[in-house]
Formats: sequence, C-alpha cells, structure tokens
Amino acid sequence: MIVSHKIRLVPSSAQEQVFRRACGTARFAYNWALARWQTDYLAGGKPSEAALRKQLNALKATAFPWMCELPKTVVQYAIKNLGLAYKNFFDDLARVNRGELNAKQLRRPRFKKKGHHDSFRVDNGTDKGHPNAVTVVGKLVKLARIGWVCMREEVRFAGTIRSATISREADAWYCSFAVDVGGLAAEGTARGIVGVDLGIAHLATLSDGSTPIESPKPLRRLLGKLKRLNRSLHRKVKGSCNRAHAKTKLARLHARIAHIREDALHKLTTHLIQRFGTVVIEDLNVRGMLANRKLSRAIADIGFFEFRRQLEYKAKMAGAAVIVADRWFPSSKLCSTCDAKNESLALCERAWTCLSCGATHDRDFNAAVNLARLVPEGGYPESSPGLVCGADGSGDESDLAVKPAA
Ligand SMILES: [Zn+2]
Repeated sequence: MIVSHKIRLVPSSAQEQVFRRACGTARFAYNWALARWQTDYLAGGKPSEAALRKQLNALKATAFPWMCELPKTVVQYAIKNLGLAYKNFFDDLARVNRGELNAKQLRRPRFKKKGHHDSFRVDNGTDKGHPNAVTVVGKLVKLARIGWVCMREEVRFAGTIRSATISREADAWYCSFAVDVGGLAAEGTARGIVGVDLGIAHLATLSDGSTPIESPKPLRRLLGKLKRLNRSLHRKVKGSCNRAHAKTKLARLHARIAHIREDALHKLTTHLIQRFGTVVIEDLNVRGMLANRKLSRAIADIGFFEFRRQLEYKAKMAGAAVIVADRWFPSSKLCSTCDAKNESLALCERAWTCLSCGATHDRDFNAAVNLARLVPEGGYPESSPGLVCGADGSGDESDLAVKPAA
C-alpha cells in the first residue's frame, strides 16, 4: 500500500527559484491541456489526457523549450491531474443524473491561477533508464535537475519512494513523498469495537464512555486575528511591497490554522486505531452538509472527510477495520437501550429522554453507542456484504456502506 509523508523543505534561494519555475510550468501545462480539451470537445472530438500528453511532448522542444530544463514528469503529471479532474467531473455528472448530487455541487475543471495550490510532481517511474528522479538520504532529498534539498525531518515510513510532490503553502515549501510500504498488516485480533460520533460540540465522542475529545476549533480561536489581517491587507496599496508582505502574513495564518486542524485529526485517528480493532463511524455526506450554511463553518473546521481518509489508511496499516454506517442510519434518534426511535429529536437537543423506556441520553454518546452496536458480538463473519475494512478511496460512497438491520 502507498502512504504519504509531507515534510517541510529548506531550499536555497536558487532552489526556490527552480521550484517556482516548476510550479509555473505545471500550471502552464495544465491550462494548456484544459484549453485544448475544451476546443477538442467543442469540435466533436474525444479528448483524453494521454493524447494531450503526447501532443505536448511532440510540441515542447520547439514551442516551449524552457520546459525541457525541468524534470519531464512535471509536465506529464500536470496533464494527468487534468485527466483526474475530468474523471471526477464525469463521475459527479453521473451522480447528478442519478439524482444523488445537486447540480450546484459539480466540480468542473477550471483554469489554475498563479499562487493558488502551486505544486509539481517528480517520480521514480518504472523506467530502468531513470531510476533515481527522487533519492532520499536522511534529511536530504535529491530531485532531478534540482539537486540535493534539505528537509526538516526524515521520511517516517520504510519502503520504496514512488514519487515526490513539491508544494507551496504561504511562503513555505513542502515535499510529500508517496511511499510503497508493501503488503498490509495482518488482521488485528479482538482489540474491541468502538463507535465514534463526530460532532460540533466535541470533536469526537466514543462509545466506551471515555471523556469526549475536544476539537481545537482553530478557526474560532484565530478568527479575530484573521479578520484583523484581512482588514490590514485591504488597506494596503495594490502592487505595493507592504501589500505583498501583508498577503504573506495572512497566508501563513491560514496555513497555521490548517496545520492545527490536521494535527488534531492525526492524534485522534492514531489514538483510535491504536486502542481499537474495529472503529465504526457514520457516513457523513460532507458535501451535502457543507451546502447547509449553518453547519458549514463547524464542519469545515473539523474536516470530517480528512478524518475518514486518515482513519482508513491507518486501519489498513495496523490491520484494524473501519466500518462505515449507512448514510440513513439514524444513529442519533435511536434509543440505545430499547431501540425505540425518537422521530422528533431536533439538532439543537443535546440530551433527551426516551419515551418508551425512560432512559436519558446524551445525544453524542447515544449515537456512538448505536454505531458500536452495528457490529454484532464476536465481529462480522468473513464474507459479510457491505463490510468495509480500511477500504481506500474514501470518496466513493457507492460500495462503502453497511446497511443497518431493519
Ligand atoms: Zn428507550
């Protein structure tokens, strides 16, 4: 399986110049291919990323000779990414036609702007002639045509490095390594089952009755600062050095917020996988919920999608299982004592009393217990349909659900 590790780089100013140029080249290739794709399509053609890569390869030596000064994969991956963007778009389109997705949520491939998600990728390929586009020795990484670059830490995973993606966040550079760590770990023995309810009041409530895990709420805490920096940026004269400086400061704060959020999620998912053999979570329709403006701030703040992604790959590495409940499973509304359903439970009710059996429930804890109860005593039989064991590709809901017992 492939895992990734993203490490801060410490490039020299000359290396940073090359990074910037490579990002520009990747963006140019992406936009070039997107424009071609659109004209080809309008002309009745059937564009594909493979054909576009071939076209650009044939062209670049004469039309864009500066491309040849950079690793060849920079351009290739940019166009492959466009292919991926179109694949996502067509998948979404199919879901809109099936009525599973709102047409407003379509992710249409768009032209890239300078300074937004700047990145490029180099890889080790399968070609024996160029086996070492990326070499890592301790805290140094050697990139083709760029040379040795210092890193803040060593790569955490042992295995074969497949590729390196260089990206920029604010004024800092990072390298994300894709490492092939080989086969999966053996299936974990009974380390217990836990249901996890992700929430807005707490980051996570576990069904084992331990204290709920608080969310760092980075946005809320740093929001005041964000507002101040935003105001200060817009007071600066356009094109001035002061404005550029304020822009960097703002970008750094955004990056810091993202890092705090990521850190909290990593700690939570690692904790869950270390302690339990089976983790049951809800299938939160994140994109649907983001469309709900009241919930969107809190959800974007926590990062449910990233939570599931981390949990699934860590489970895969540790031989644990992640079970995703059906999207329509009423985890909050069921009474975990008597199975009666409280149809009238509102989102704002944090605690409620069951009308059938009189049990009082904490909303989040009750939901977590209901999730844990989806897994029968002694675990699932081997070939249970719909069971997900650390499946990859967490974005695809179609085959990731386990239906609750009726
Ligand atoms: Zn009850």
